[in-house]
Amino acid sequence: HVQRCLANAQAHHGLNAFISLADRSFLEAAAQKVDSIREPGGPLNGKLIAVKDNICTSDFPTTAASYILKNFNSSYDATVVRRLRESGAIITGKTNLDEFGMGSHSTFSHFGSVKNPHNHHAQQPPSAGGSSGGSAVAVATSQCWASLGTDTGGSVRLPAAYTGTIGFKPSYGLLSRHGVLAYANSLDTVGILARTVSTTRSVFAALNAHDPKDPTSLPPSTRSRIAATTTTTASSSSSAQSPRSLRIGIPTHYNPTELSPSIRTTWHATLARLHALGHTLHAVSLPSTPAALAAYYVLAPAEASSNLAKYDGVRYGTRAAGPDARGGAPGAEGQRGAEAEVLYARTRGEGFGPEVKRRIVLGAYGLSKGARGNYFLQAQRVRRRVQEEFDTVFRVGNPLRMGVGPGELHGGLQTAGQGKDGREGEGVDVLVCPTAPGLPPALDTLRERNPVDAYTNDVFTVPASLVGLPAVSVPVPNADNSSAEGEAFPFVGMQIIGQFGSDDLVLDVAQALE
Ligand code: GLN
Repeated sequence: HVQRCLANAQAHHGLNAFISLADRSFLEAAAQKVDSIREPGGPLNGKLIAVKDNICTSDFPTTAASYILKNFNSSYDATVVRRLRESGAIITGKTNLDEFGMGSHSTFSHFGSVKNPHNHHAQQPPSAGGSSGGSAVAVATSQCWASLGTDTGGSVRLPAAYTGTIGFKPSYGLLSRHGVLAYANSLDTVGILARTVSTTRSVFAALNAHDPKDPTSLPPSTRSRIAATTTTTASSSSSAQSPRSLRIGIPTHYNPTELSPSIRTTWHATLARLHALGHTLHAVSLPSTPAALAAYYVLAPAEASSNLAKYDGVRYGTRAAGPDARGGAPGAEGQRGAEAEVLYARTRGEGFGPEVKRRIVLGAYGLSKGARGNYFLQAQRVRRRVQEEFDTVFRVGNPLRMGVGPGELHGGLQTAGQGKDGREGEGVDVLVCPTAPGLPPALDTLRERNPVDAYTNDVFTVPASLVGLPAVSVPVPNADNSSAEGEAFPFVGMQIIGQFGSDDLVLDVAQALE
């Protein structure tokens, strides 16, 4: 396994998937050590796992692909990394990304763009997706067995869709964020990329536990409530051999005119396959989908502007050269110039890339006194509405919104997922829709696009993020073989979204499609 991954890492070096990579002798020694101290047969024993470079590791630098953290070494492992190591996995290196996770194509990196190994544009490599593009490419080219990414608004699912891999974003709060560099805390989720659903499940099982070091990690009591909800309602679904008949929701608002014909054709084919497997199909309405995208691009930058304030050249990472200039007396002529020269301003000016600066300005504006009511607070209201719409379409209730006592829990289950007219059993078990509205664009065409084009690409992934729902992207064959586009790109990412806590169920459906 180690030798094969190393050979692939050498062969695919030009795709720029890694920022740091362990050397051969280290990996060989680590593999030997694992063999000698552990019973063989553990699911992660001796497996090489790559970690996105915004997740702290004690043995590699953690740069978040930013110049400002170019030489930052964490003194500790993130909890998810510690759990991987305790399960016998070997961390093979740190993967490339959009700076601090901000982006959709892994091009906003101080270390250069990631390239997609599936080259349908002939001359120019396509986007690998982002921001976890390095993690996706490392898996797609078998440079590792599985990888960790982070998904704030789609950053695990989109690169999975573009590289033909599985990308799983668990329910918010299941996997620890301790040691994960924050982009937007209320949305940030550690996710898993792998070549099969069964590998995804093994990694998920190793990481899925309460962490007292993360204040948003779900406590054991909530975890038992989720287990009770899902066992009561999805009883026989977990056995992949005999999945019960599921009610599959088709969100009609996920079918805009801009949807690529290949994606639409493949979506139809996927639904037909699920129907043939005995599941039933139901159109559902999520009218706030376009508003969800706008709300995300107010909320995520707002949180980012606050989170990134700590990178000032004093506490972490790269500091701009020269002395810390002092301004003259208040009001003095020339003070403006002197202020612009203070150390942290110069450090931040040099240290952050263009997209990160854009987000900080956008976020600070949305939170400012004059704009807050129209932007930040309005976006919070939209987020609430998106939550309510999802709760209306799912058959089971949201375990986070139910009462805590067993009686109330039972009541919650009975009334959950009812249609607007109050009839029981109206709701669906999962939603199935495309992960992205188009196939991966060629990298060289991205430069001509304006930033908002990249933002609209997240329209199908952002709603589940706003509500913390589990979602997985699974590659299915491109069913459109009548167009040049369809012939050239062999797969399309399909997304399965479930009610909060239905993580096993979305993976069951992904497994039925792989
Ligand atoms: N493309 C989205 C953004 O730039 C999502 C990023 C992510 O999930 N980290 O915010």
